[in-house]
Amino acid sequence: MPDLSIYSDIMYLQGVGPKKAETLRNELGIANIKDLLYYFPYKHIDRSQFHKINEINAEMPYIQVKGRILSFSLHGQKYKERLVAQFADETGTLELLWFKGIKWIKEQLKTEKEYVIFGKPGKFGNKINIVHPEVEDPEQTEKQLSTGLQPVYYVPEKLKKNYVSPKVISKLIITALKLSYKNIPETLPDYLIAQLKFMPLNQAIKQMHFPDNQHLLKNAIARLKFEELFYIQLHLLKQKLIRQEKFRGFVFEKVGDIFNKFYHNNLPFELTGAQKKVIKEIRKDLGSGKQMNRLLQGDVGSGKTLVALMVMLIAVDNGYQCSLMAPTEILAKQHYKGISKMLKGLDVGVQLLTGSTKAKERKIIHKELIENKINILIGTHALIEDTVKFYNLGLVIIDEQHRFGVAQRAKLWKKNISPPHVLVMTATPIPRTLAMTLYGDLDVSVIDELPPGRKPVKTVHMYDSKRLRLFTFLKEQIKAGRQVYIVYPLIKESETLDYKDLEDGYESITRAFPPPEYTVAVVHGQMKAEEKEKAMQLFVKGQAQIMVSTTVIEVGVDVPNATVMVIESAEKFGLSQLHQLRGRVGRGAEQSWCILMSSYKLSNEARKRIQTMVQSTDGFEIAEVDLKLRGPGDLEGTQQSGVAFNLKLSNLAKDSKILEFARNKAIEILKSDPELKNPNNQVLVKHLKQKNMQAIQWGLIS
Ligand code: ADP
Ligand code: MG
Repeated sequence: MPDLSIYSDIMYLQGVGPKKAETLRNELGIANIKDLLYYFPYKHIDRSQFHKINEINAEMPYIQVKGRILSFSLHGQKYKERLVAQFADETGTLELLWFKGIKWIKEQLKTEKEYVIFGKPGKFGNKINIVHPEVEDPEQTEKQLSTGLQPVYYVPEKLKKNYVSPKVISKLIITALKLSYKNIPETLPDYLIAQLKFMPLNQAIKQMHFPDNQHLLKNAIARLKFEELFYIQLHLLKQKLIRQEKFRGFVFEKVGDIFNKFYHNNLPFELTGAQKKVIKEIRKDLGSGKQMNRLLQGDVGSGKTLVALMVMLIAVDNGYQCSLMAPTEILAKQHYKGISKMLKGLDVGVQLLTGSTKAKERKIIHKELIENKINILIGTHALIEDTVKFYNLGLVIIDEQHRFGVAQRAKLWKKNISPPHVLVMTATPIPRTLAMTLYGDLDVSVIDELPPGRKPVKTVHMYDSKRLRLFTFLKEQIKAGRQVYIVYPLIKESETLDYKDLEDGYESITRAFPPPEYTVAVVHGQMKAEEKEKAMQLFVKGQAQIMVSTTVIEVGVDVPNATVMVIESAEKFGLSQLHQLRGRVGRGAEQSWCILMSSYKLSNEARKRIQTMVQSTDGFEIAEVDLKLRGPGDLEGTQQSGVAFNLKLSNLAKDSKILEFARNKAIEILKSDPELKNPNNQVLVKHLKQKNMQAIQWGLIS
């Protein structure tokens, strides 16, 4: 058989054929030889050792024995038959048992021939047995490939039914390696391999499947993980360079009148050091002539809105329009009100545009936008509709960016001849490693300081049985003039689950806090916008002491007089959501509380989440724990954004060191050869193209 290219269809591999090829393609995504070679085992088992039968006991894990089958016997009735073989070495005998495939086994296996058997020992009566052992012919076994550490492959049931067992996969890989070993092209430049003391790619792949020893396996994994992360970073950083070449940014040269007037007359408080630092970083971008793409991370309550406003004023001073987009109507309105209030006395046109803006008003807004009478347009995704046209949009700010879809963000880019500057803000802290990957082509600013005078929120965990104590505490707080949030996980979504759903909750709360002494407002996702707004206003104005809601209040709502956040069925929430909710309190000068209610029955993970909340108020620390508990694929903000990296080997939670190292290497290389023109780097160019980068380029879409 001729040597195969690694891009040859899997169908042409000896032992595959069209039918198996189709199952491999459909079930495991293995379409060509390369895919097969990159189908790595999820673990290895040590088969370098052989046991003697007289040392074996039923408590041992998988073991391997060399010996002969003395005899077969068939037991039981039809359809419930079992085949028993007496298997012996020089120290004793044990039993091999089969319940299925009996006919085939009897035909295949010969007595008095030497076999290597492998399996988990068990016991029946006094006799040691192995059920459905793997049986190998020691002569035919590929010696150097199948001794020592043996690969174990994940194989879905459907494949097994089509006669593709883990064993078959292993054999196919052996064949593929034999035929294509020499043709596996190196994917890293020679100088990098030498510098990092890596093994060549073909060796690494072979060691991944059939390692000679643990040490070489480790080296192979290290190389392949590096490579996986390195190419993503190289891709992201290269995109950033290209983008910066391609798009000239509007230049905001000056800080003008409006900004200065605001700063000196309207600013209600001193900026925090972190706010100042971040505004400086952004200003530098805006004056650089390059289009800004910056992510602003800051914990809940860190004062991102003010930063957004001041940056918008710089744009306005330079004759450009801005838009601020928020994920919910409640939040957009709150921004509109807050910002209008702060801009009192300044000549800045601010408008609000949401889904519920009336047609007549909408028309006026559209007209005034084109006439440049509106300087700042605040709103929800209604902002991005094609009918919304600007005179000269220079800056776009997106609050709680992870709530928006990719396509929505992309539209904002097209609202001017060349793309406006983009600032995306998030209060969902993202661990460094994830940020480097998810937002690898953005610049990142962090507000790492809360405004002064804030007392950290005290968090306690309370079991449902202590509800009366909770109510007493709430009454004390309300008596002292404070307000309370009570949040439920969902509303009547699944009747069978034992959730304290909002409706029951609302009822029992109104019973415990009856009118006229108390007013309880309620907000949930299924209410009409006006009803929601009305209920919110009751609470914002202090007319309702208690706000019962689902997580719609999670994002951004600001009521400084609210000091207690009660989260019902806290075990049902993810960590970042719990942290977000807690951020709704602790905004005023009074001591605030977050009370996590749960039943006694808690999974380990739920317990860990609750403990983490009780112990820490640091959003970044919480995000790290979240990443470890859930894995990157599930982190809030990564799913909605549709980012799939399809990492085969690396784990962003565990491989942060390799990731950082890989990113720095990519930076180093691009610094000395930004366009990758150096002959030594052509390998990189080639594989950047070939590796199907599923990482989304954030810069182009945010
Ligand atoms: P977030 O970062 O969560 O969006 P906000 O912008 O809503 O936070 O700010 C939270 C609260 O802190 C608001 O009431 C805001 O007025 C207040 N705030 C912002 N900056 C400062 C500051 N420098 N000093 C005091 N209070 C501030
Ligand atoms: Mg906010």
